Amino acid sequence: MEDGTLYSKRKGFTPLHVPPLKEYAKIVGEEPIKKLEEVSERLSGMKMLDLSSTPYGGGVAEMLHSSVPFLNSIGIDDEWKVIKGSKEFFEVTKTMHHLLQGKKGKLTAEDEKIYFSAIKENVALDIIDYEPDVVFVHDPQPLALARELKRGDVRWIWRCHIDIDEVALRRNPRLWDFITYWAEAFDAAIFTAAYFVISQWPLPKFIIPPFIDPLSEKNREMSEDEIQKELEKEDIDTEKPILSQISRFDHWKDPEGVVSIYKKVKEKEECQLILAGSFASDDPEGERVYKELKETTRDDKNIHILCECPDSCINAIQRASSVILQNSKKEGFGLTVTEAMWKGKPVVARPAGGIALQIRDGHTGFLVNGEEEAVKRILHLLRDPKKRDVVGKRARRYVKEHFLLPVRIVDYLLAADFINRTKEIPEESIISFHPWFKISKRVW
Ligand code: UDP
Repeated sequence: MEDGTLYSKRKGFTPLHVPPLKEYAKIVGEEPIKKLEEVSERLSGMKMLDLSSTPYGGGVAEMLHSSVPFLNSIGIDDEWKVIKGSKEFFEVTKTMHHLLQGKKGKLTAEDEKIYFSAIKENVALDIIDYEPDVVFVHDPQPLALARELKRGDVRWIWRCHIDIDEVALRRNPRLWDFITYWAEAFDAAIFTAAYFVISQWPLPKFIIPPFIDPLSEKNREMSEDEIQKELEKEDIDTEKPILSQISRFDHWKDPEGVVSIYKKVKEKEECQLILAGSFASDDPEGERVYKELKETTRDDKNIHILCECPDSCINAIQRASSVILQNSKKEGFGLTVTEAMWKGKPVVARPAGGIALQIRDGHTGFLVNGEEEAVKRILHLLRDPKKRDVVGKRARRYVKEHFLLPVRIVDYLLAADFINRTKEIPEESIISFHPWFKISKRVW
């Protein structure tokens, strides 16, 4: 809608659809669905609002496309709205994103001014035109809205999806002061992993990982025939083994490194590489990275740089791949890793950020430090289909247990309810629903 609304029952705007719960039960079993029903019944009528900065491209949009209609279908009134921002604003928020993930540099006074004036514009647009119980603000772009818009009993939660680094943040006092000032206005924050938690912020903090929707177009089962057809549309030879990385065109995902790994593998084993990427409206760098990649790989017919493929095509590429790479140097979680694992694929990845929560090295995938290790591992896997199969099966099981929408969404509901009902939570609280969640140190 004109005002940035992507989903609102109140406004009669519900363009996204969701399969019935019984379809999910066939995948995750009856028990988790029963738990979900109990919680949603208890919280029925709770009004939630999600605020994010892009309707497409990237993991946040991917999750909200599924979770917002899903929550509405189980009686939780969840709306989704996207903030407005100019190219200049998103250049600044991308710089913020880089700095928060530990890149050296600084936010200038001019950057801060651009950021704040875009926030003011959103405030003036009356971005919250009703009274939800809980507002979820996703990532740093809309961060300042809480301080500007908090009214009455509405509770505000910041959901940090990025590979945020407290040590780096503390090394940059100006950025620390800037971010902390906005963050302090929230009632709580949610981080993906214990090692992302900004311990010195005076807020209760939750640790909840993201999830994928097993019934979305991106993840649903596909027949061999369908996969074949999708790949033919992109002129991909289905006889030749495929290595792939699916990711926004972003230097943090190191697609240049993937090309280099592929070239070394190719010297020893026949294969082809697919780099499928997308742009997000809040990421102004994507096009530059895409053009560079196109230019530097144009002489190799076995490298396919694909852009803005539909979800069915991404699904098919993941399913047709022999090995999937995630060469990220920083990674909030890496839904692409989850998606690949769910499809029973061996993922070879750097242990960056949230990837280490998903891949247990040698068990549910492979963690590699550097190009040489990656090449060696991929060559082993290309030559050993049985190993690919065994690891792939364990990967799928792991995702089923921990990272599927109907299972994990309960944590978000409990967090929202907890913050909504409990007004006096000690600021230093760290709340995790995961006894299995043992990694407390960064691996990378
Ligand atoms: N994605 C896509 N098409 C592409 C590249 C990525 O649909 O060409 C999707 C991908 O399948 C995943 C999301 O974008 O669902 C990326 O989420 P992730 O957490 O991996 O990374 P982010 O982009 O949020 O850093």
